Amino acid sequence: GYQKIKVPADSDKITVNADLSLNVPNHPIIPYIEGDGIGVDITPVMLKVTDAAIEKAYGNKRSIAWMEIFCGEKSTKVYGPDEWMPEETLEALREYIIGIKGPLTTPVGGGIRSLNVALRQELDLYVCQRPVRWFKGVPSPVHCPEKTNMVIFRENSEDIYAGIEWQADSDDAKKVIRFLQEEMGVTKIRFPEGCGIGIKPVSKEGTQRLVRKAIQYAIDNDHPSVTLVHKGNIMKFTEGAFKDWGYELAAERFGAEPLDGGPWHVFTNPKTGNEIIVKDVIADAFLQQILMRPDEYSVIATLNLNGDYISDALAAEVGGIGIAPGANIGGSVAVFEATHGTAPKYAGQDKVNPGSLILSAEMMLRHMGWTEAADLVINGMQGAIEAKTVTYDFERLMPDATLLRCSEFGDAILKHM
Ligand code: NAD
Repeated sequence: GYQKIKVPADSDKITVNADLSLNVPNHPIIPYIEGDGIGVDITPVMLKVTDAAIEKAYGNKRSIAWMEIFCGEKSTKVYGPDEWMPEETLEALREYIIGIKGPLTTPVGGGIRSLNVALRQELDLYVCQRPVRWFKGVPSPVHCPEKTNMVIFRENSEDIYAGIEWQADSDDAKKVIRFLQEEMGVTKIRFPEGCGIGIKPVSKEGTQRLVRKAIQYAIDNDHPSVTLVHKGNIMKFTEGAFKDWGYELAAERFGAEPLDGGPWHVFTNPKTGNEIIVKDVIADAFLQQILMRPDEYSVIATLNLNGDYISDALAAEVGGIGIAPGANIGGSVAVFEATHGTAPKYAGQDKVNPGSLILSAEMMLRHMGWTEAADLVINGMQGAIEAKTVTYDFERLMPDATLLRCSEFGDAILKHM
């Protein structure tokens, strides 16, 4: 039993099949973390919009039994001063498979670097999934933002983000440098004195579990291509291997064949009969192409650092930084989350844009297979923005817009659903 978590009665659990597909009952329990700072503003609006979309789509045949779980500042109030991430929060996410969270404060001092990073590591959520699409009316810095419609699968557990690095002049850094020079014959460290060192692990298993998720997503959602974005021309055995292992997985697991002699591959979507092309592009060229020919890309699979840059660049192209949703997904567990932080200066003012968390809930509904409800959330969001009834962050960029509070924007979404 749980200590502080109250499990809703008369509801069921989502379960996972051997092939990692989900069994979603009609009244699943879904844990949520309110989040710190503006979490108190945006999370209730997200719950309200999600419930309304489900009711509109399915009447009382389906509903979510929301179950509050705790992390961050709120957890320290519920469980005690040092309990930023109680063990039972992790247990609940493992047990109930799908969860959603608001932003979390990064504790200052103490052992925890970032609660988000800790959550990802504890639950081995190795995919960071970010859809990037434009909503008509959102101010954008490019001419044709409607041409950008992609879903990024960023590897979350490897690469130089794994945190394997040593500070310049530390004994450890010196030791690693000495090892590289003396045992590995490395002569190319330009300034061995005063030199920090970082190591970039990229494995076949880590790459292929990520690429597999990306290709499966393309199959499930009928997308025309999956692009492996890498810097393999320079880093052959990490970034280059990512590309090679990606193609290998496409061939071995999904039956892809080389296209015109390769390296691109192609296979038939078993669900729709449409073609899916698996291709690759060097990361710097990709950053040009997303400005010049964004409509040639749909699902993107990439390494951790590339994915960081690409996610932000693409979000900016569609004007979506304030409404960009995200998910962290593992073998079976998935945690959906707003991509922004806790914006403490606006906390409790009913002012900020709840769009990021609401669109994260939309991803969650789609992940559950509740696509009709997900589509209604998109309709509602599109309608509210097109009617120019928006929160302050959009209002100040849109001529003749009407300024709404956070909760009022939620109601505007309901009105246009
Ligand atoms: P932030 O995203 O919280 O805020 C930066 C600015 O973005 C805000 O001042 C505000 O102007 C704007 N903004 C953010 N969310 C908005 C919204 N929903 N609507 C309108 N405007 C919005 O970033 P920060 O100030 O660097 O970080 C604050 C705290 O959040 C830190 O403790 C940080 O560690 C944490 N953080 C958490 C997450 C997460 O939980 N996923 C992500 C980033 C930062």
